[in-house]
Amino acid sequence: MAYPFERLASGFRQLEATSSRLEMINILAKIFSEATAENVHMIVYLLQGRVAAPYTGIELGIGEKLAMRAISQAYGADLSEVEALYKELGDLGLVAERLCSGKKQMTLFSQPLTVERVYNNFYRIATASGSGSQDLKLRLLVDLLNDAKPLEARYIVRIPLGKLRLGVGDATILEALALAKTGNRDFREKLERAYNLCSDLGYVARRLFEGGPEAIENFKIVVGIPIRPALAQRAQSAEEIIARLGTCAAEAKYDGFRCQIHKKGNKVWIFSRRLENMTDMFPELIEGTLKQFDAEEAIFEGEAIAYNEETGEFYPFQVTIQRKRKYGIKEASEEYPLRLFAFDIMYLNGEDLTGKPYEERRKILEDRIKRGDVLDLSERVIVSTAKELEDFFESCVERGLEGIVAKDLKAPYIAGARKWAWIKLKRSYRGELSDTLDVVIVGYYKGRGKRSQFGLGGILVAVYDKKEDLFKTIAKVGSGFTEEQLREMKKLLDEIALPHKPARVVSKIEPDVWVEPKYVITVAADEITRSPNHTAGWDGERGYALRFPRIVGWIRSDKGPEDATTVDEVIEMYKSQKRVEVREGEEQ
Ligand code: AMP
Repeated sequence: MAYPFERLASGFRQLEATSSRLEMINILAKIFSEATAENVHMIVYLLQGRVAAPYTGIELGIGEKLAMRAISQAYGADLSEVEALYKELGDLGLVAERLCSGKKQMTLFSQPLTVERVYNNFYRIATASGSGSQDLKLRLLVDLLNDAKPLEARYIVRIPLGKLRLGVGDATILEALALAKTGNRDFREKLERAYNLCSDLGYVARRLFEGGPEAIENFKIVVGIPIRPALAQRAQSAEEIIARLGTCAAEAKYDGFRCQIHKKGNKVWIFSRRLENMTDMFPELIEGTLKQFDAEEAIFEGEAIAYNEETGEFYPFQVTIQRKRKYGIKEASEEYPLRLFAFDIMYLNGEDLTGKPYEERRKILEDRIKRGDVLDLSERVIVSTAKELEDFFESCVERGLEGIVAKDLKAPYIAGARKWAWIKLKRSYRGELSDTLDVVIVGYYKGRGKRSQFGLGGILVAVYDKKEDLFKTIAKVGSGFTEEQLREMKKLLDEIALPHKPARVVSKIEPDVWVEPKYVITVAADEITRSPNHTAGWDGERGYALRFPRIVGWIRSDKGPEDATTVDEVIEMYKSQKRVEVREGEEQ
């Protein structure tokens, strides 16, 4: 049975208005409880403003000009009228809603919209290409707007513009699916495992609706569909790592970008850390995989880094990152060829290896790679003492590497999670926290005095509470910005401003403007302190806060809000900072 789009649109409106995550889950569960195996994936994608999982590379997007033309055609308004209303309301979704409600009654020929029809039109918009594609997109959008009710029109315009901004995260959707289908939120864990193996929320939802909980429990890896990457915890010292892992492997930490490579016969796919399909960007890695990786089917992982063949040196990250581009690929691959240091394997010739211990996986990886110009193995040693680990760390840092990643010899590959199976130790700087934090911007302050000219004086930032799936504040940051960055950030944040606190943000302070938790930025600080003002790690009286925070670098396009530093990591950093202080005190 088709799902009325009107019902989904009214769910969207409720989601937009709520500032409580619990309520958000209940609204979503209600939406899902009326879905079927045929349309649940469409609903899941539409909730995220998409039509397919990110790995497919199918991105829904239209420009404002096209949206304005569609609104003008559908509602018989002049373009100038649409533009004027846009100036007044600041949101083309609201413009469409307003003009739609002024329109005469539906004609005899109009058909109420269904999720199926909306999704199919959006899918065609997302995949249209070549000459005539602009006209086709326009027609498809006008077709929907013609039959839309005012509230539906609001979302039909916002979705392809990328302005849906409901703030529902993956974990929230999974929890609501669990609740809707099994009546038990705890089933989220099982769904999460399936999601970690395929990174496609829509597909997981469909399998759940088609095959019930059993289908989720028997979920399998598929070559060509990316696995969510395992992530590393952080440590402050070699001693800490040995205390946790005992004898372990220490691998060089390369500062490039992570690639998950899939191979099936002659076909190769390459996925980024965020699981975007980057296959076309790196022709030399495809060639290298076909030449140097001995398997019919495989999924393996490594860090790609630009390499100077003349001198045998690695280029810094700023050079490597230039390889992430859509145009001039051939030239760039000749100028800055990549080398891939493979460090793990998850799948081989029909067999899921994720449950095998690291040491076994590494042996399999070593057997399958013919080391050469493009593919190589990550350098590693087995260490049993802090001294051995420290020596290897120093030798890596001396050679310009970022540090090391220590690995538990017995641990399985834990997809999509940050566990102590992998522990990173990075170069540290005295007098500062040795590691930076990746925080999510949740609001901004308008700025006084000199800063008032930019309209932005500082930002309110949060870390991610993974257990609760909430963002908790940790600092106000006003330092480290250039004037250019202040201007640019104001513009970006205004596009995602919200009239109330976002549902998944927990805060004791109120910024001048709330924004959707979307952008991740790296901050450095002198130390982590306890504070009654911030909610990260709240114990009833105090949370954790950053002392002298300052931004370093710019918004991280490779990280989404749920990839930010977590509350648990902050607590670990706080504890190890204490240990360092105590140790230094003892030495004196
Ligand atoms: P970070 O981005 O600081 O959390 O560090 C973890 C990242 O280090 C991983 O996502 C990889 O991209 C990268 N990395 C570099 N070398 C290795 C290695 N030998 N093993 C695992 N990860 C590595």
